[in-house]
Amino acid sequence: MKVIRLSTICGFALVLGLALANHGRSARAAKSPLPAQSSASFVLVAHSGAGDYSKTPPAMIEARRAAMVKAIQSGYAILSHGGSSLDAVEATIRVMEDAGLFDAGRGAYYDRDGIPELDASIMEGQTLAAGSVASVKHIANPIHLARLVMEKTPHVMLVGDGAERFAQSQGVELVSPFYFYDQRIWEMYQRAKSEDEKKKTSELLRDQEHGTVGVVALDESGNLAAGTSTGGTALKMPGRVGDSPIIGAGTYANNQSCGVSGTGVGEFYIRNIVAADICERVRYLHVSLEQAANDVVMKELVEQQGEGGIIALDPHGNVVTTFNTNGMMTGTVRADGKITLKGWSKAAEPMIFPASD
Ligand code: ASP
Repeated sequence: MKVIRLSTICGFALVLGLALANHGRSARAAKSPLPAQSSASFVLVAHSGAGDYSKTPPAMIEARRAAMVKAIQSGYAILSHGGSSLDAVEATIRVMEDAGLFDAGRGAYYDRDGIPELDASIMEGQTLAAGSVASVKHIANPIHLARLVMEKTPHVMLVGDGAERFAQSQGVELVSPFYFYDQRIWEMYQRAKSEDEKKKTSELLRDQEHGTVGVVALDESGNLAAGTSTGGTALKMPGRVGDSPIIGAGTYANNQSCGVSGTGVGEFYIRNIVAADICERVRYLHVSLEQAANDVVMKELVEQQGEGGIIALDPHGNVVTTFNTNGMMTGTVRADGKITLKGWSKAAEPMIFPASD
């Protein structure tokens, strides 16, 4: 049997006297920047999805670890040269999108029709500027397009065709759906389709190994940024949008509280505005980041059977990674140049890697 259904790219060749007359205008949201809170140093934390890794082949876990290390090294290179958290977040996510090993970019899972539909968002904690894209099918690096939405349009979110037309106007190449084709994902899709006939969708979602990627970083100037990129849940309905591109649900950053990137069954993250809720608890209830994250992920989501996890970072450099699934791969790097990876299972011993070759 043959591969993925092709969706057409033709409509995109045309166009672009578009309604983006304002596209050169900065989308920075806040009139006066939110002050950086502190920080003599920098931190970056990344995740590559919460879920059940117990059936993931060891070689795949190993490959994902190596890809995460490479991705984090690229973020570290930026931060250690005084670069911004926003640049570091984008660069780190791009490497994971290109790896073909995660449910993001090249490795994105397929929807019910066998087509990847990608979502991503990025947010800056100093200005609350944010950008996101959803349901794009021909974009290799949705996180980059999300950043272009943030910086080159007056909007926060573009979806589908409109997002891809905007991409073309910015010189971003549209890739064929075959760019996302991968034998492993195709087999997973076929298996999931046949299991789907026996299982309820809620069970299917629960058993998935999620591979969404996300990063939160704090730079030397004390500014936070966060980003998330995903192909969404496997076998999602065409047109379904998860939490990852929804600012406040899957991604949030505010210098006054924290930055968060989430992963899990997105519908729960949207209903509970998970990322913003964690940050607002820190801001208004003055609880620690750890308590806020645990109250949301380990209590509220668990009560609703909302599977997933989050990474979070505050302006003081405190990192929290918490998940209510069997695993969530995470990696953290600080100025000392050591990358700590953990979370492929609850019992897994952390592993340390150098942040530069
Ligand atoms: N949160 C993503 C979504 O629902 C999926 C994931 O994190 O694996 O689209």
